[in-house]
Amino acid sequence: MTDGRSDVAVIGGGIMGLSIAYAVARQGKSVTLFEAETLTHEHGGSHGKARIIRLSYDDPFYVGLAQEAFEAWHALGSVARKDLYKVTGSLDIDLSGQRRFDGHRDALAECGVSSKLMSATEINDAYPELNLPDEATGLWQHRSAVLNADLCSAALADEARRYGAHLWTGCKVNRVIPDDRIRLDTTQGMHHADTVVIATGDQVARFASDLGTHLPLTKSLEEVSFYEPLEPEAHLADHMPLLIFHLGNGVLSSVFPIHRDAGVKIMVENNGRDTSPPERLTEHKVAEIAETILPVLPRLPRAPSGTNLCHYILTPNGDFILDRLPGHPQIIMCSACSGHGFKFAPVLGEMVAQLITSDFVQPSLFMISNHSTS
Ligand SMILES: Cc1cc2nc3c(=O)[nH]c(=O)nc-3n(C[C@H](O)[C@H](O)[C@H](O)COP(=O)(O)OP(=O)(O)OC[C@H]3O[C@@H](n4cnc5c(N)ncnc54)[C@H](O)[C@@H]3O)c2cc1C
Repeated sequence: MTDGRSDVAVIGGGIMGLSIAYAVARQGKSVTLFEAETLTHEHGGSHGKARIIRLSYDDPFYVGLAQEAFEAWHALGSVARKDLYKVTGSLDIDLSGQRRFDGHRDALAECGVSSKLMSATEINDAYPELNLPDEATGLWQHRSAVLNADLCSAALADEARRYGAHLWTGCKVNRVIPDDRIRLDTTQGMHHADTVVIATGDQVARFASDLGTHLPLTKSLEEVSFYEPLEPEAHLADHMPLLIFHLGNGVLSSVFPIHRDAGVKIMVENNGRDTSPPERLTEHKVAEIAETILPVLPRLPRAPSGTNLCHYILTPNGDFILDRLPGHPQIIMCSACSGHGFKFAPVLGEMVAQLITSDFVQPSLFMISNHSTS
């Protein structure tokens, strides 16, 4: 490719870049996406087979956004003729019993979504794979699912291509050069576009900085472990819900029932707390899971059958970034980050498309000004 042109160039082929390419191409714009490696490769933030989608937030804004996201994934699955998620329901659990999830219940109720507070006894009776202590409490919400992450990405890529988007892999963008028409200096030549969307995951802050804006994004090494029970039946997604443990100080642990991965997937978020080198972090995380989560899932083996390291990109307040770059209105920054962005990608992609094609104003939570003052 030399001297290419398009209405919109998207940098980054993670879930966010693909969602943007699909949404913008559907608006009839010519779109070229540049991905330095392969689409949703394993060093980015969007790889793997599973992500959680849940309505259970303690903020009505995110409950509403998750409702829209559910509809968007459903619509995409219908056009792509793929099962993009498996509904499991979810339990938010507080092992100390101090939390009655008032914020979650209020936010869900405000959005017309039902939920049910359950005692430890009720939960243990309903789910024999669980052995919660007497004092634990849980909030049941039926509209939660495991998103088939790899199939979601593939559906977005297929549909974006069907609407004419060009998805270039193995093509790194070295520099974005603002001009009347923006120039992209890539490893395969120069590209020109009216609008550029930068959705480069851990490289979003670097691109913003090159263009004169500081974004307070940090990177946190995270670890995911898989546990294969001898008797998997009770841990299958047909029987076991998604579990979200609230461990205090904002730390969450997510436990996925067995669906398309081998074994139960468990993650205790690190969120930058532990800055040990990778091999020590794995050791620490496996120990943390053994201490906090395995006691309440007694039929899982004590040792994981596999572990994966990956990273989160974090904003200080956990909200996403979706905004025009100050001084460069034709450049849009987008990061579906902070460990919970995957589920929202199709809704955020649509917002980016509307920013480009109409006078839409994005939610103030996603504006760069919301982050720079945090
Ligand atoms: C382990 C883990 C579990 C998670 N669990 C959940 C969950 O259960 N539910 C949920 O909703 N969210 C979850 N998240 C969050 C969500 O998956 C990520 O925030 C989201 O996938 C990030 O997508 P992205 O497209 O913004 O970034 P990425 O996926 O990182 O994509 C960015 C892409 O840009 C490319 N790129 C970078 N620089 C350049 C360049 N110069 N030129 C060209 N290409 C470039 C990269 O190669 C990369 O492919 C989780 C994240 C992780 C890591």
